[in-house]
Amino acid sequence: MKQKKRFIAGAVCPACSALDTLKLFLENNVEKVECVDCGYTKSQTESGVQEASKNADNVIGVFKPE
Ligand SMILES: [Zn+2]
Repeated sequence: MKQKKRFIAGAVCPACSALDTLKLFLENNVEKVECVDCGYTKSQTESGVQEASKNADNVIGVFKPE
């Protein structure tokens, strides 16, 4: 098994709303996302995963002290 699977920090499953249960892996050169909690899967042919990462960064940014 050479498949690399990694979890997406800060990503929320759109199906069950669980946090940090989405893992990213390559299948036929297509990035796919799978939720290990509810089994939700989605092909990431666009930038959905990166968007999720950006959102996580933004959330962290909100909490910086004034
Ligand atoms: Zn889920």
